[in-house]
Amino acid sequence: MEERLLSGLPRMDRLLACPPLSCDALPYALRKEGARLALAELREILRHAPAASIPPLEEIARRGLALAEERSQPRLGRVVNATGVVLHTNLGRAPLSPRAVEAVVRTAEGYSNLEYHLEQGSRGSRTAHVEELLCTLTGAEGAFAVNNNAAAVLLMLTALTPGLGVAISRGELVEIGGSFRVPDIMAQSGARLVEVGTTNKTRVEDYERVLSSGQAQALLKVHPSNFKIMGFTQSVAPQKLAPLARRYGVPLLGDLGSGALGPGPWPPDYPTISQWLPQVQVLSFSGDKLLGGPQCGILLGTSEHLALLKAHPLARALRLDKLSLAALEATLLDWRDGLLPPAPAMLAAKQEELQQKAEQLAAALSSFCPCAAVSCAGQVGGGALPGEALPSWGVELCPPAGPEGLEQALRQWRPPIITRIHNHRLLVDVRTLLPGEEAIIQAALAAWAGGER
Ligand SMILES: *Cc1c(COP(=O)(O)O)cnc(C)c1O
Repeated sequence: MEERLLSGLPRMDRLLACPPLSCDALPYALRKEGARLALAELREILRHAPAASIPPLEEIARRGLALAEERSQPRLGRVVNATGVVLHTNLGRAPLSPRAVEAVVRTAEGYSNLEYHLEQGSRGSRTAHVEELLCTLTGAEGAFAVNNNAAAVLLMLTALTPGLGVAISRGELVEIGGSFRVPDIMAQSGARLVEVGTTNKTRVEDYERVLSSGQAQALLKVHPSNFKIMGFTQSVAPQKLAPLARRYGVPLLGDLGSGALGPGPWPPDYPTISQWLPQVQVLSFSGDKLLGGPQCGILLGTSEHLALLKAHPLARALRLDKLSLAALEATLLDWRDGLLPPAPAMLAAKQEELQQKAEQLAAALSSFCPCAAVSCAGQVGGGALPGEALPSWGVELCPPAGPEGLEQALRQWRPPIITRIHNHRLLVDVRTLLPGEEAIIQAALAAWAGGER
């Protein structure tokens, strides 16, 4: 029975010869792939619903062409982030500033002086520009940039503490984003993990004990940036660890996670680069969290330690590509000039500003769907400032048939618009909208309303 049904499916060559799949707007291989996928889809349908009839050949060809067209587009593309989560890991973390985008394009479309000294006409250093900027902006003696912060931590431990016992608080043995676990990175680096304290409480004496017994020869401080322990807790700040490290003559290293270069909307006790840097020998943090730049990992510290990092063979394996380097330099120039990159600017947005944006958007959308401007709770995201509510404003859309259909329609719009459903309402948080994205949402809603009616 099933065999008979499936044998009624058209043959591949017939399907490929049928318009619109026969048109040569797309390469043959792609149309063939579309035809194959359309037939596979049909086979699946017939298997589950044997009573279903086989559609006319032209209809299958149309579906084949649609699938081929879908495959012809790059999968990675722009989306509108209406979630209010500023550093959304699933949505690419930090958007770049116009200056950084321009720098990427300029560097990508031609040759560049990536490793060329223009004054001397000879080979130059790849990261000298950003190192100088990083030192000027932070007061560090030395700086270096690698592929991401996970790479920065790996390089720091591999180069500085191979075979050494590295003491770290049990409350800081964190996992970040699934594949980055502090104990695993440590094992990979060849350092020996020496756990001190407990999950909720670690005191200076806990570190001192493993230093005096000779179990540990280095200290690592990790900012547990994506979770918060509440209640009966205690940890030791780098300011308290530094004198201990000095007394025992061991290095104190720091993984800050999210490094902010300047004052921002974060709470006064949020650890910043300027608080940690003077205490540690080397500090690492991500370029695409609170800094608001490209994916990269930044290392700051003493000249002596930075020289060891740069000379290690892993430095070459983990090096930053030229496009990220261009974006990082431009982002640092923004900070130098007092311009906040998009992500930190979104975090710093004032309530009145957000309210006005939400009210304007609600007015523009109200003819397509019942809606209202509302205050709502946002998040920083990206493993920064966990537990910190980020009061925001948004437009709450209340389609009569419920929010699910609209959520899906917006997600399938080009460019896709990513929203949240909260309390059976669809929320468009305006904090994370970039200039011009209100118009995209309005167009999508107009099309949706046209189809609904
Ligand atoms: C985010 C984070 C990392 C990983 O950084 P990536 O740039 O994602 O590689 C490592 N450590 C801490 C504390 C973090 O917050």
